[in-house]
Amino acid sequence: MPTPRLAAGAHGRDIPPTAGLPLRWSDLLPGGPADLETSLAAWLGVDALQLECSGTSSLVVSLLTLARRSSRKTVVLPAYTCPLVALAVHHCGLRLKLCDLAPGHFDLDPDALEAACDGDTLAIVVTHLAGRVADTDAALRCAARCGAAVIEDAAQALGARRNGRSVGLDGDIGFFSLAAGKGLSIYEGGLLLARDPALRDELRATSARTVGRRPGWEARRSLELLAYALLYGPRGMRLAYGNPQRAALRAGDPVRAAGDDFPLDIPIHRVGRWRRGVGARAARRLPAFLDDARARARRRLERLQGLPGVRVMQDTAGGDGVWPFFMLLLPDAQSRRLALDRLWGAGLGVGPLFVHTLPDYDYLRPIVADAPVPHARDFAARTLSITNSRWLDDERFEVICASLAASLPSP
Ligand SMILES: *Cc1c(COP(=O)(O)O)cnc(C)c1O
Repeated sequence: MPTPRLAAGAHGRDIPPTAGLPLRWSDLLPGGPADLETSLAAWLGVDALQLECSGTSSLVVSLLTLARRSSRKTVVLPAYTCPLVALAVHHCGLRLKLCDLAPGHFDLDPDALEAACDGDTLAIVVTHLAGRVADTDAALRCAARCGAAVIEDAAQALGARRNGRSVGLDGDIGFFSLAAGKGLSIYEGGLLLARDPALRDELRATSARTVGRRPGWEARRSLELLAYALLYGPRGMRLAYGNPQRAALRAGDPVRAAGDDFPLDIPIHRVGRWRRGVGARAARRLPAFLDDARARARRRLERLQGLPGVRVMQDTAGGDGVWPFFMLLLPDAQSRRLALDRLWGAGLGVGPLFVHTLPDYDYLRPIVADAPVPHARDFAARTLSITNSRWLDDERFEVICASLAASLPSP
């Protein structure tokens, strides 16, 4: 008998699963500033950022650029990450090779990485998952040895730093996502950065050559952004997010419930003037917003870490990440199952992060070959995310903590 779920969407509310920056009506007026990339670059302390229509398309532009420089064909990916990353590699006609995670961690396993890299490795993707700063050292070492590039997937980590500078600069290329719910959002968008000016020029050239204006897509994204601005909050999220999620859970479709079911076709187009202006206005509030989220996370970390056997994932040494949500590792798969039975779909911003490792999604089977990735599978079965949205008040946070405590094995 599964434990009964908490009253779903109690009080007619659904707390967003991540701390996204809410938009204001004044952001939406036409004629916003045209400096989205330059103002964010100045804030991050990087030379330049390149705007694309999603994190995924930023990765596509990166891979196409690297593939033009080299005859290598293989991209090494963490076995547990966003399915869109695999779709981007496939879109570029490249081979993907999965690398297992380190035991009980989201970092790549250094030995598995060493074994995965060879003379055909074009790039290694390292992921700053959940805003946490990943250890890029093993990937940099491997890449230097085998002549590959390192791409930092910082889709969930805009604003994260390591040793005082933005993530994305250790590797050759980094990218951020501006998708709905990922910190700053223009509903869908992505930002590319690269340390080397020559590579930056090549990334721009690839984009100019391969990315066209597609007015239909931009119109659709503009409407979606408008709806997002209107609905992003506990009440609107019940309608737009919580109710469809509960329907998917009732239908026994966790992949859909988690939003992991992406179309195989990746839309690639230019971002229009209006959405850039909306993003540029909202971006002015981002530094203070992230500070606020960081302070809230610091307060709550202690409580979460006090749960016996629970590990809250932290930044690698020298890292100062962002806190869209907490990524927890529970002691075993059974307690994670019990915790999700109680909390997923309850409107409290708790869920499984990604449901599966990449080889375990049925719909990705044609693209992702099965691979022995035991640590990634173990991580996927034991991890859980808790929102760090400001709409999660102390009382509801305590409900989450008590439900987790009740799901843990008795000592
Ligand atoms: C969301 C995400 C992406 C893709 O970014 P989009 O902007 O949604 O295309 C890539 N990697 C990770 C880890 C993500 O969470």
